Order: sequence, then C-alpha cells, then structure tokens
Amino acid sequence: MPGCRLVFLGAPGTGKGTQARRLAERFGLTPMSSGDTLRAEIALDTQIGRQAAQYVQSGTLVPDEIVTGVMLEAIRRLPPGQGFILDGFPRTVAQAEALEAGLASRGMRLDAVIDFRIDESLLLQRLVNRRVCSRCGAAYNLVFLPPRVAGICDACGGELVRRADDREEVVATRLRTYELQTAPLIDFFEHRGLLRSVDAARSADEVFCQLVGVIESLDGCG
Ligand code: AMP
Repeated sequence: MPGCRLVFLGAPGTGKGTQARRLAERFGLTPMSSGDTLRAEIALDTQIGRQAAQYVQSGTLVPDEIVTGVMLEAIRRLPPGQGFILDGFPRTVAQAEALEAGLASRGMRLDAVIDFRIDESLLLQRLVNRRVCSRCGAAYNLVFLPPRVAGICDACGGELVRRADDREEVVATRLRTYELQTAPLIDFFEHRGLLRSVDAARSADEVFCQLVGVIESLDGCG
C-alpha cells in the first residue's frame, strides 16, 4: 500500500489538497502539492521562488521546466518504495510526459489518476470562501468546511488566511488556465487507462469515502 502512486487532477477549488492530506494519512502515502512547494520557495525567496512568483500571483502556470524539475526532484528524494499523491502536478501535457519519463527511468509508473469532477459554477464560490492555515497549510471553506473556531485552524491552532490568488480577478484566470492547459490531461490519462473520477461537488466526507473506494479497488493499492 505505501507504494501506491497517484495523481489528483481537477480544477482549483475542487478539494484536491484537502483530500490528498486525508488520504495520504489514511494510506501512509506522501502528499505532494506543487502549489505548496512553489509557495514555500517564494516565501524563502529562493531562485526558483523568484522565477515562479509572478506566475503564481497572476494565476498563470509556472513554466513547465521549473515545476517539473522541482517535483521530480521531490519524488526522487522519497524513501525507496514510498508512495505519493501528486496534487496540482502535472498541469500540462508536457509535464505529464516528463513525469511519465521521470518515473519510467526509475522503474516506476502511476497507479491511477483521479479526476475531481464538479460543475464550474460551484468553483468560484468555493475559491472565494477558501481559507488556509498560515502555519500548516490545511484548507477550510467558510461555507462547506468551516473551522470549529472562526479564524483558527482545527489541526494546529494557526491563523487562517485568504490566499492572495483566491481573489476574484485571479480566480477567473486560474479557472481559464485550467480549462485551456490542464483539462486536456483528462483525455491524456484516459487513453492510458489510468483515469478514475469522483463527484467533487459532494461533502468532504462523502468525497473521502468515494476516494477510499477507488484506491482500495486499485491493484496493489487496496
Ligand atoms: P495550486 O495551489 O495548485 O492552486 O497552485 C497555485 C499556483 O501555483 C498556480 O496558479 C500556478 O501559478 C502554480 N502552479 C502550481 N502547480 C503548477 C504546475 N504543475 N504547473 C505550473 N504552475 C503551477
């Protein structure tokens, strides 16, 4: 089970990050969010962070070679045999091909790609109501998944903040970017027989149950 290798695919605001954390804990996998990784690089003002900042702030995609380099290196650093959930990577066909090649060169391949399906009209509301913990990164939603105490993270007591790119004008760009550059990955992975899907419009607990069912049905993962 800890060797299972998954990709969570879906538009921003579909709950991929929240579920990746929960599922990773349940199945002993490592959650790997490209967005969190890039935000950490930006916060530390590294060379990669400086290259990525303008794209993250505007809601457009960071160039493929930067993201691919960072994420393949993060996978390479995992202990041998450790499985993972990629959240937000790959986001273009070029990234998907680089991921496949990078895994193949180490004798690995993906077990499944899970598409978080949702009606686009729900996404704007979800994103503008999203709050994230400034300390541990856990995500909440003021409407769908509120914290127990307003403004405070249930998990670590950190302060909840609004991500800069969850402002309405940036959200519109992120959703358009997803449609143009990331949605084509649905066909890409379907052709490889890797695609599964969940109904991401349901409650967080219901989506979690669907995901557990999907993962347990995978050969070598359940
Ligand atoms: P996320 O937290 O997944 O919504 O990502 C936040 C931002 O980080 C995105 O809007 C992009 O600017 C950047 N980003 C995250 N993952 C990728 C990726 N795989 N390729 C390019 N840019 C990315």
